[in-house]
Amino acid sequence: MKQEFLNTLTQTLGKDAVITDPAEIEPWLTDWRGVYKGDAQAVVRPGNTRQVADCLRLCNEYRVPVVPRGGNTGLCGGATPDVSPSNIVLSMDRMNRIRSIDTISNTLVADAGCILGNLRRAAEEEGRLLPLSLAAEDSSQIGGNLATNAGGVNVVRYGMARELVLGIEAVLPNGEIFNGLQTLHKDNTGYDLKQLFIGSEGTLGVITGVALKLHPLNQVRAVVLAALESPQQALELLRRVYGACGARLQAFEYFTDECLDLVLTHVDGMHQPFGQRHDGYVLIELADTANEDALQALLEEVIGQALEDGLCQDAAVSASLSQLQTLWRLREEISEAQRADGPHLKHDISLPIERIPQFIETAERRLRQVSPDCRLFIFGHFGDGNLHYNVSRPQGAEKTWAAEWEGRVADAVFGEVAEYGGSISAEHGIGQLKRHAFHQHKDPMQIRLMLQIKQVFDPNSIMNPGKML
Ligand SMILES: Cc1cc2nc3c(=O)[nH]c(=O)nc-3n(C[C@H](O)[C@H](O)[C@H](O)COP(=O)(O)OP(=O)(O)OC[C@H]3O[C@@H](n4cnc5c(N)ncnc54)[C@H](O)[C@@H]3O)c2cc1C
Repeated sequence: MKQEFLNTLTQTLGKDAVITDPAEIEPWLTDWRGVYKGDAQAVVRPGNTRQVADCLRLCNEYRVPVVPRGGNTGLCGGATPDVSPSNIVLSMDRMNRIRSIDTISNTLVADAGCILGNLRRAAEEEGRLLPLSLAAEDSSQIGGNLATNAGGVNVVRYGMARELVLGIEAVLPNGEIFNGLQTLHKDNTGYDLKQLFIGSEGTLGVITGVALKLHPLNQVRAVVLAALESPQQALELLRRVYGACGARLQAFEYFTDECLDLVLTHVDGMHQPFGQRHDGYVLIELADTANEDALQALLEEVIGQALEDGLCQDAAVSASLSQLQTLWRLREEISEAQRADGPHLKHDISLPIERIPQFIETAERRLRQVSPDCRLFIFGHFGDGNLHYNVSRPQGAEKTWAAEWEGRVADAVFGEVAEYGGSISAEHGIGQLKRHAFHQHKDPMQIRLMLQIKQVFDPNSIMNPGKML
């Protein structure tokens, strides 16, 4: 049966599109972090939507599980197959064509396998901005970005990936093509079915094409790093900056002094930005289409007033592009510095923004009852209420600590998130990593509806088994 399936698949898609050599398959079986490892009988690399449809139709007929794979930068093991040797990994990397860019309707239509960074650069060449931006943008694919409803650093201004989507083309598990690749800005004709694919993590079908909204290109930027004596000051500063700068507020990122210390320890060439240590920091970026001097003056005025009013302790305003980039690196290098520090427990949580300071206090108390000496690294997209609440082994503990303490630490963190009406996954999704917590914390009625939707789209359960649901 297995050989018959592979023969038919190879005859239909062509030899180039089907990899079966175990040595060649090997690199497709692990996730970016190296936490998960699975198995598969083949990796399939279709070159167009018709081939994706043929592949899924055959998989459905032979009941072969399909794991869609984008750039493999997901942090929850969603694109890694489980241990069943009957899986196929369906890689979208050959579907990387930009289909059109329109600077009147401000839309971009592309294959789902396009790398996000390439789409951003293509839009920029036409004088437009594709605002979705994340540290993994030069590896992740737009199809993966939509399948995870990615966030990133500009959500405070432009919203999550979902808010940029006008149309989707996708293939259903039975091989039918969902032809929703329209660029209309308005369409109120019944249920908006494309939304179901966004954030579905490959469990309903394969996204093959996307139509996205573009925005005016920002030509000027201004950045400040503000030092805080408490997270409460970040709240007050957010209120003040948003009120004064409105839509020009492009990013509002937070990190604690422990995160800064980690970056200074593990990343070459980084320097302490202030004469003394502070409790935490926010990095604020403003951006506009024109008038650099006015933007810089606005930022300086707002921050100057904030310093006078005691909303922050100190501030470093960028005076050049290289200073701006250096300030950003203090925030962006935190993930790499954590990787260098060793295995750690990631919690990508979201909270009502105004309750973040209180959460930081009570969550630490709760966590210390479980593990008094663990090290906490808190940073993230404060302006969206999204914290990366990461926990590392106590000083001197074995590197196996993270694996041993994972369950207890997650129970404490997610338990506290639930008390605040927050979410256990702000932007990374569920995948394999958070499946248990998802079923523990999500409203059972909503899970029942999701299972019913899954049944409608994928009655034979071939799509990405063991993920999310
Ligand atoms: C350094 C770093 C920084 C990051 N920063 C952020 C951040 O700021 N914000 C954020 O949201 N995420 C961030 N991420 C996580 C990751 O980049 C995103 O989740 C990204 O959207 C995943 O895209 P991908 O193409 O790599 O998808 P993959 O990892 O390949 O897949 C992710 C999921 O989507 C499914 N999938 C992939 N392609 C398709 C498709 N065409 N059709 C259907 N299903 C598909 C997979 O089956 C899987 O379940 C970061 C990751 C790294 C490594």
